[in-house]
Amino acid sequence: MRYLPLALLLLFALAMPPVLATPAQAPAMMHQLAHHKTKARQATVYVTETGSKYHRAGCSSLRHSKRAMSLKEAKAAGYTACKRCHPPK
Ligand SMILES: [Zn+2]
Repeated sequence: MRYLPLALLLLFALAMPPVLATPAQAPAMMHQLAHHKTKARQATVYVTETGSKYHRAGCSSLRHSKRAMSLKEAKAAGYTACKRCHPPK
């Protein structure tokens, strides 16, 4: 049974990251998860044809037009975060 300790160690290692990630980042992560389950790095935001703000997918400001782009692109183009839907910064 010489592999058993190794297997236990592996299980332990797999179980650790979420535990370590929770305390400090929980509020921010919950915010992200509500919108999207993927990585925050590649956040997609939405802009309108005429506005200067970028938005989350469900924002009511997007009723007229909606154009998807990455958060990085939106910031590079000079868009700022919407105050209503609080998209990622
Ligand atoms: Zn918005």
